[in-house]
Amino acid sequence: MKKAFKKRKSNHATFMYIPESESKVVSIRIPKWLPRAVAFGIVLLLAVTSSLIYMTNSLNDKYSSSKHEISSLAAINTAQKGEIEKLQNDTVQIHQQLEENIKALNQIKEIVGIKKTTENEAETKAVQPATIDASKESSDNSLQQIDQIKTSYKELSTKLLSQRQLIDSSMATIKKQVTYLNAKPSISPVNTRITANYGTRKNPFTNRGSEFHPGMDFAGETGTPIKATGDGVVIFSGWQSGYGNVIILSHGYGLTTLYGHNSKLLVKKGDKVKKAQIISKMGSTGRSTGPHLHYEVRLNGNLVNPSKYLNN
Ligand SMILES: [Zn+2]
Repeated sequence: MKKAFKKRKSNHATFMYIPESESKVVSIRIPKWLPRAVAFGIVLLLAVTSSLIYMTNSLNDKYSSSKHEISSLAAINTAQKGEIEKLQNDTVQIHQQLEENIKALNQIKEIVGIKKTTENEAETKAVQPATIDASKESSDNSLQQIDQIKTSYKELSTKLLSQRQLIDSSMATIKKQVTYLNAKPSISPVNTRITANYGTRKNPFTNRGSEFHPGMDFAGETGTPIKATGDGVVIFSGWQSGYGNVIILSHGYGLTTLYGHNSKLLVKKGDKVKKAQIISKMGSTGRSTGPHLHYEVRLNGNLVNPSKYLNN
């Protein structure tokens, strides 16, 4: 095979194909600029192709990284939705707990016998956190939910503070009431038979005529333990005519109690005693017909019926 160009004066070149066999020569006449143009075209095509390949690759990369980003954003969104729902549930539970606290406080108040806290004072009922249609998935919805949670939390913190103040002030009242209840002569000084009540009765010595009995009598065996009927301080422990060996307790609030005819005194003047503490032993000292406890209660110095306080 042979290739040849025949130079001419024109702007054209002739390309000749001369086979070695006897076939005829093929000659093609082309403009001189054509090979350069073709070469340039090929270079341009290569450049365009490679830049297209580069662009396609980079678009592909972007697409897969976007896809990854979108799926992780979706995961975050789902997690946040869960968090929002949890926060909403939390606020509901805290509201419920606040109501429970007031109920518990009221139970304590009922036990110690003081006025209950009203709903207005407690201010726990006012807000029920609004629930939002969960089927709507717009971001507006989430923002709305977050706003509601914010409002709800603000209200909760205000309520927690006012409940705290309410509990503090209630506690002061409750403590005072408990102190009073402990001091109040409310228990029986001895668990034996009551043989005489407070008031007018037949004279036990002469069995004739009547006399005023200023307390309650409990009959029993000598040595039976006698209990203080409330918290207090011993203001007298010794002998008094008529009462024999006697103990007098002051409970505060204008209340005093007296325990007469004891065989033995176990506390002395100035001692502090607790409700149900054993203070003496039953006897028959003083003006007595047999072993018994004579028990009196006074309010502001005036005799009162002890049964009025017993188990009250
Ligand atoms: Zn008596």
